[in-house]
Amino acid sequence: MMQLVRRRDLVCQEAVELATLYLEGAMSRRERRRFETHLRKCPNCAAYLEQIRATIQLAGAVDPEDLSPEARADLTELYRRWRSE
Ligand SMILES: [Zn+2]
Repeated sequence: MMQLVRRRDLVCQEAVELATLYLEGAMSRRERRRFETHLRKCPNCAAYLEQIRATIQLAGAVDPEDLSPEARADLTELYRRWRSE
């Protein structure tokens, strides 16, 4: 029997792309709620968001190009793990 139950939650890839918008307050209320719901269920994205938040506090700006090589390596590793799940 086939199971075709499709969840309408954010997938992690989307959540990562939305993280900077979220932190900049550039989301609608509905988008924020959807994003926060995903964060509660997904430690990977919550950790990613914290990393971006820390970067913003240090750099005062949101620009993935400004991430340290270590942070970028961490994120690359995160992506790889998500994809292989
Ligand atoms: Zn996620």
